[in-house]
Amino acid sequence: SHELKTPLTSIKGFSETLRIVGDEATKNKFLDIIDVEAERLRRLIEDILSLSAIENQKSLAVEIVNAAEVVKETCSLLERAAGEKNIDFSLIIKGDPEFVGDIDKFKQMTINLVDNAIKYTEPNGKVKIRLEEQPTNLLLKVMDTGAGIGEEHIPRLFERFYRVDKSRDRAKGGTGLGLAIVKHIVLGFGGTIEVHSELGKGTVFTVLIPLFREES
Ligand code: ADP
Repeated sequence: SHELKTPLTSIKGFSETLRIVGDEATKNKFLDIIDVEAERLRRLIEDILSLSAIENQKSLAVEIVNAAEVVKETCSLLERAAGEKNIDFSLIIKGDPEFVGDIDKFKQMTINLVDNAIKYTEPNGKVKIRLEEQPTNLLLKVMDTGAGIGEEHIPRLFERFYRVDKSRDRAKGGTGLGLAIVKHIVLGFGGTIEVHSELGKGTVFTVLIPLFREES
């Protein structure tokens, strides 16, 4: 409720104050703040709905996921963001892993991981993605040379709204729900996710998803 109330309080406060502001510059500044906070609220609501749908296993598609196709799409979607920070962005694909699941959810999972890698890596750093077909699993690694995550934060990293650095991470525009969504999607696929990180060196997220399952 705190996460939802903060932008809403700000929108209400600034719109009320707008009525008594005379000069154009201040008016525009307030309108910009309202715009930013409304956008934050929109993303937050979208992520909350998305998380609740995944938790309730609602409307999940059962289709053949061609992982390479999805990961390539994710990379072309985020290439520009990486380019803007002059990040060396690379993708390696070994084999052609396919499994039964929801394509959109797999895509959302890859977008959240790669988006974080770009977001939390300084300009001129590196982000590497590796997708591999193993005998019984699909392996996806998202590696970055970013700030890294302190060991003490790792156990809580996938909790909703958990942020390593509250003000830094909030300022980057994230909702704090990205990794909670990732975790739920991976579990829904019967998979696992692990994170290895070294402060100042970077972070590696490793996802394993079984290619064959009883129920599929
Ligand atoms: P956010 O929307 O804040 O990015 P996430 O749930 O996606 O929330 O991630 C939770 C927190 O984990 C982030 O706020 C950030 O502190 C940390 N984090 C996630 N990915 C990385 C990464 N690749 N490198 C460093 N820190 C990360």
